[in-house]
Amino acid sequence: MASENILEVRNLSVDYASDTGTVHAVDNISFVVKRGEIFGLAGESGSGKSTLAFALARLLKFPAKITKGEIVFNFQADRQTPQEEEMFGDSVDILELLPEELRQFRWRKLSIVFQSAMNALNPVLTIETQVTDVIKAHDPSLDARQRRERAIELIRMVGISADRLKSYPHQLSGGMRQRAIIAIALALNPDLIIMDEPTTALDVVVQREILNEIKSLQEKFGFSVIFITHDLSLLLEISTHVAIMYAGRLVELADQEGLILHPYHPYSYGLIHSFPELQGEKKHMLGIPGHPPDLRALPVGCSFAPRCAFAFDACQKVMPALRAPGEAGPAHVVACHLYDPAHNPNRPPTSVDPSLAAETPRGQLASSTGGAQ
Ligand code: SF4
Repeated sequence: MASENILEVRNLSVDYASDTGTVHAVDNISFVVKRGEIFGLAGESGSGKSTLAFALARLLKFPAKITKGEIVFNFQADRQTPQEEEMFGDSVDILELLPEELRQFRWRKLSIVFQSAMNALNPVLTIETQVTDVIKAHDPSLDARQRRERAIELIRMVGISADRLKSYPHQLSGGMRQRAIIAIALALNPDLIIMDEPTTALDVVVQREILNEIKSLQEKFGFSVIFITHDLSLLLEISTHVAIMYAGRLVELADQEGLILHPYHPYSYGLIHSFPELQGEKKHMLGIPGHPPDLRALPVGCSFAPRCAFAFDACQKVMPALRAPGEAGPAHVVACHLYDPAHNPNRPPTSVDPSLAAETPRGQLASSTGGAQ
C-alpha cells in the first residue's frame, strides 16, 4: 500500500561556504508532506525557506552543499508507469538519484514554481516554446502536434486564453506570467509541486485569483503542494499543515487549526499577530522587534532570544529542541524552552500568553513603546 506521506524529509542540513565563514542555511530539518495536501512553509526573508525548496528539488549549486539528511519520495502505484517502477521502486531518496534518474524524476514527479516569473521564464522564447520544450525534454513519446495540444490545454487550465501562447513573457502581465509558470510546472502531471513565493510580486487581487486557481487545480488533480511564503496569514488560509522556520531551523510545526488556536512559539505568535484584522474590534498590533540574525554568527542558545519578549536564562545558553507540549502530541511540536519543564518548571504548557511577556524586561519595553519596534 502506498504511504500516505508523499515526502519525508529527515534531518536535512544545507551549508553555504563563504570567505567569512560557513552559513548553516538549513539546519537539521525534518517534516513530512501528506499525499494531496498543501503544506505551508513560512518565515522571514533569510530564514532558509528557498534554500530548503531548492534542496528538495536538487537544484542547489555551489557554494551550497547538502551536508546531511534524506529526502524520501514515496510513489503512488496508480500514478507510476512500469518504467518508473522498474527504475525507482516504490520509494526513493532524492539525494541518491543518479543524473539520468533525476532527469526522469524531476518535472514528472516533482516540479517547482519559482519566486519571480520574469526571471524564471526565458525572455526570448514564446510561452508556447517554453511549455512545449519542457514536454519534449521529459516526454519524447509525444509528437509536435500533441505537444501543442497539451500546451493549449495547460494554458487554458490556468486561466489564460490559448492565443497568448504566441506571446513573449514581456507581453504578459505579472499575473499571467505567474500563471504560465504554473502551467509549465503542471506540464507532466507531477505528484508534488514546490511553490516558492509564487504570488509575492503580485497585487492582492491577482494574488487572490492565483491562489484560488492553485487550490482548484490541486483539488482537481490531487497533487501535493509545498507552498513557501513569508505571509503566514495566507498560509493559514490554504494549508493543511504549517511549518515555521527561523534562522535555518524549524521552530514550530502544526496543523493549520492548531497553529491558529495555539501558536506556541513567540515567533509564530508574532507572525500571526503582525497582520491587521479587517473586521471586528480594533486590536493593538504586536509585531516582531529587531531583525533576523546573521546566519554566520548565530547566538548561543535560542536564535530568537535577542528578539524574544519571553527570553529567560536558559534561552541564552541552550538551543531548544522540538518537543510536543500539548494535547496534540507529536502533531504539534515547538522548539521553545517556555514549554520544557526541564528549563521552565513554573509555567504550564499553554500557548503563548502575551501577558507573560509583560513580566520580562523586554516585554515591558515593548508594551511601553507601543508593541512593534
Ligand atoms: Fe523565546 Fe526562549 Fe522560547 Fe527562544 S526558547 S523563543 S528565547 S522563550
